[in-house]
Amino acid sequence: MPQYTPPLRDMQFVLHEMLQVSEVFKAMPRHAEVDVDTINAVLEEAGKFAAGVVAPLNPVGDREGCKLDKDTHEVRTPTGFKAAYEQFVAGGWGALSCDPEHGGQGLPIVLNQCLYEMLNSASQAWTMYPGLSHGAYECLHAHGTEEQKALYLPKLTSGEWSGTMCLTEPHCGTDLGLLRTKAEPQPDGSYRLTGQKIFISAGEHDLAGNIVHLVLARLPDAPPGSKGISLFVVPKFLPQADGGLGERNGIFCSGLEHKMGIHGNATAQMVLEGAHGTLVGEPNQGLQAMFVMMNAARLGVGMQSLGLTEVAYQNAVAYAKDRLQMRSLSGPKAPDKPADPIIVHPDVRRMLLTARAYAEGGRALAMYSALLLDQAHASEDEEERQEAAELLALLTPIVKAFLTDNGWIATSECLGVFGGHGYIAEWGMEQFVRDARINMIYEGTNTIQALDLLGRKVLGDNGARMKRFGAKVRELIEDEGVNEPMQEFVNPLADLGDKVVKLTTELGFKAFQNRDEVGAAAVDYLRVCGHLVFAYLFTLQARIALKKQDDAFYRAKLATIRFYFAKLLPETAMLIRRARSGAQPLMAMDEALF
Ligand SMILES: Cc1cc2nc3c(=O)[nH]c(=O)nc-3n(C[C@H](O)[C@H](O)[C@H](O)COP(=O)(O)OP(=O)(O)OC[C@H]3O[C@@H](n4cnc5c(N)ncnc54)[C@H](O)[C@@H]3O)c2cc1C
Repeated sequence: MPQYTPPLRDMQFVLHEMLQVSEVFKAMPRHAEVDVDTINAVLEEAGKFAAGVVAPLNPVGDREGCKLDKDTHEVRTPTGFKAAYEQFVAGGWGALSCDPEHGGQGLPIVLNQCLYEMLNSASQAWTMYPGLSHGAYECLHAHGTEEQKALYLPKLTSGEWSGTMCLTEPHCGTDLGLLRTKAEPQPDGSYRLTGQKIFISAGEHDLAGNIVHLVLARLPDAPPGSKGISLFVVPKFLPQADGGLGERNGIFCSGLEHKMGIHGNATAQMVLEGAHGTLVGEPNQGLQAMFVMMNAARLGVGMQSLGLTEVAYQNAVAYAKDRLQMRSLSGPKAPDKPADPIIVHPDVRRMLLTARAYAEGGRALAMYSALLLDQAHASEDEEERQEAAELLALLTPIVKAFLTDNGWIATSECLGVFGGHGYIAEWGMEQFVRDARINMIYEGTNTIQALDLLGRKVLGDNGARMKRFGAKVRELIEDEGVNEPMQEFVNPLADLGDKVVKLTTELGFKAFQNRDEVGAAAVDYLRVCGHLVFAYLFTLQARIALKKQDDAFYRAKLATIRFYFAKLLPETAMLIRRARSGAQPLMAMDEALF
């Protein structure tokens, strides 16, 4: 069975040294008291829960999957999932960063992200149950009426009830404007919903007393397309005013998908038969309201792949130190043994360091983004809130797509470290690869993230958000421009920054003439931007690590950063060339010739 040790040291490095979060919190009245000791204590306990309670369930969930009883429409989760969930609720983990007004602990979101990284390393499938509930909490917190908040938020905060997001229908996934589920207004101001949803994660299960579905549907007079979508809250059991459970609502699980990975998470087909619902936000503004949940979920999906990258790396390192095959090309390293451990071989190290760099870079980006979310919510300064929100909007598609693409690469490389044994189920490595693949697809495929980044977030505002990030990069380059030991990082960062500016301008011009140019370049463009952000964050980290080379942690950090700059960042040259090659090679072939 795979092993997992929470990477507390690197989390502490990112939080306390790179981001200096407790200093940042001092400017936020609601977090001003959150100091280094509090943060470390929470991380330590969260790590114990993830590694001790959740991690042992991961192979069990994969083997057993979820079972639907077609008569009762109830779903049984794998052995141990429910007991672990009860411990999660009893430990107050679901309430960590929720609003104290609804029973939350009010701690910063960046701490919640650390918790979720660890939970995802332990078991992505299990973690999706509380993860989706948190998304539903965020959405109702932002857009719910006072009555909806009073009914649902305390139970979603505690985890007694769980949440889902019901968007997808059989004929529409990416293009939600096509959705058909109907909502008929009732005389009492409520609605009756009828339709079918598919692929609903955690759509039915036995972990929580009630399931709060957030459902996109159309009102009778709604305009066609995405401008005619409204959001409704549709609980499995209708809540009573005192918080107790009332009548069973007309929303049922009619089937479970058999799928490549995350077997422990129930991916449900849901039927709505005149289900009772209430409107969330304004009529026909459902997509905007749902975006709160979708943006939280996009960051959450990035965390899923970060968690998988870390756990795959840890297990691959342990194996590479233990497995003896062949001698080192530069002479035996373990002459007393029949062969050297495979960690002596350069290409095994390439695989390991790729995963390590993607884990450490991903963690830095995920925490940096989560801190922006804290600032956007809790800063006293309006300008700072706005600035943080804008930067986060730019980074969200990068967190989702770059971290999940990297997670796919990293888990696959770590499987490769095991040779044929990686492909065999008992080591658990192939599960990480299977689980990682969905992260590139749901919450908007990575293609859609790339279109969002280039089309909307960059060209859509004439590069204003990109310039904001560019100003941060330039500031760092100017600060370190004459510091000789930093040149090996600052120079490639500056070079890539210039190239991104040129590429963006070129794509902007091309897009004026032909919008397909955006679609043709977007995926490569996002990956180039992902590397720019990693190069920036790694340069910040190198600045700290260079000064502390008498300590093994910082020596390892610097070695990882140097590997990143030498072996992974150069991929940008190929990506830029490909992005510049335009739409023609893709669109030239007549459809009939495919
Ligand atoms: C395990 C699992 C769990 C899920 N959980 C949920 C959930 O909890 N709630 C929920 O509502 N949904 C959920 N989904 C659905 C998921 O979000 C969708 O599958 C996803 O958004 C893609 O939609 P689709 O499958 O219909 O693919 P399609 O939209 O049909 O896309 C097919 C392909 O076409 C590409 N494409 C589409 N439009 C464009 C375009 N304009 N430009 C370029 N390429 C394009 C896509 O990128 C993709 O490669 C889940 C799916 C799975 C498999």
